[in-house]
Amino acid sequence: MIPCLNPHTSYLAHRVAIDAAVQRVLQSGRYILSDEVAAFENEFAAVVNSPHTIGVASGTDALWLALRACDIGPGDEVITVAHTAVATVAAICQTGATPVFVDIHPQHFTIDVDAIARALTPRTRAIVPVHLYGRPAHLAAICDHAKKHQLRVIEDCAQAMGARWQNRHVGTVGDCGCFSFYPTKNLGACGDGGMIVTRDAALAKKMRALREYGWETRYVSESAGWNSRLDAMQAAILRAKIPHLAHEIERRRHIAQQYTAALHDRPIHAPAADDADLFAAPHLYVVTTPQRDVLQAHLALRGIATAIHYPIPIHQQPAYRHLAPAGGLHVTERIAKNILTLPLFPELPDADVAHICAVLQEWRS
Ligand SMILES: *Cc1c(COP(=O)(O)O)cnc(C)c1O
Repeated sequence: MIPCLNPHTSYLAHRVAIDAAVQRVLQSGRYILSDEVAAFENEFAAVVNSPHTIGVASGTDALWLALRACDIGPGDEVITVAHTAVATVAAICQTGATPVFVDIHPQHFTIDVDAIARALTPRTRAIVPVHLYGRPAHLAAICDHAKKHQLRVIEDCAQAMGARWQNRHVGTVGDCGCFSFYPTKNLGACGDGGMIVTRDAALAKKMRALREYGWETRYVSESAGWNSRLDAMQAAILRAKIPHLAHEIERRRHIAQQYTAALHDRPIHAPAADDADLFAAPHLYVVTTPQRDVLQAHLALRGIATAIHYPIPIHQQPAYRHLAPAGGLHVTERIAKNILTLPLFPELPDADVAHICAVLQEWRS
């Protein structure tokens, strides 16, 4: 079976460097924060071109701490989407604020910027756009809303490492950008990890304190912080992988282009192509077809594993149902039944890509 995602092949592709990095940390005797985390923060800063980078324990924590640093909490409303990983919404709820869901663009699957105006209330404090599947949301329109109504923009970049909006790396356009190093992400660790980036030195200082008990000096808590440090071992592993990121994004784009070409005259919709404003870093290759379950079974019979990201919109999940907007979210609810994720990871062999393309081309719905 060709897997849909495969973090083990990512380890194998970087095995010598990762094994050396792990040994280096073990031998250093310094396992928390340390020079490894500082060095990785600097290397990450150079890749995304952001002056401040703060390594944290996960992408979920990155979102939570960024929102907290922006003083978002109980009584505040945060506009986001329901077509996302649950982490986006969990982080908002963890601050005590209320997520307000808006629908997504039917072709781009990112936040419908025209729906934002209708969701604004006097309590709205922030927008959390999600650059889903590695495609940047429409940041210009989002930042226009934010400027007009004095809202914070916290970008969920968990799936979009390597993606650019108008030649700027995602995460550096809004107030804060939040990244995840979950093993299958574009830049994946061998465990959990996350990063927050910001241009704002004051926000950076707050977030740096929040990740470690609110300390500005050791043992003096200036704020009620938490323990959300990036692990030194994961930082060292990520340092082994980050030099290869650009090449791996190119490989992801190359595989995606082959799928898109194969789908050209098929009754299956390929993801939207790049436009002049954006450079996507394909994390997941998600097609849509009303015959989704039939296509999934057809691919499985031919040895191709697929997945669904995500099968249940957040506003329909038991824990968050009470937040469903009156009237629902039509596009979100419709596409949840039609989406299918094809295999995509840099180490996917050419022969497997060719087989998947051939199977897609022979499919008659
Ligand atoms: C993976 C992911 C997160 C959470 O990241 P973790 O590192 O797993 O906590 C948040 N948002 C989106 C869109 C994600 O895909």
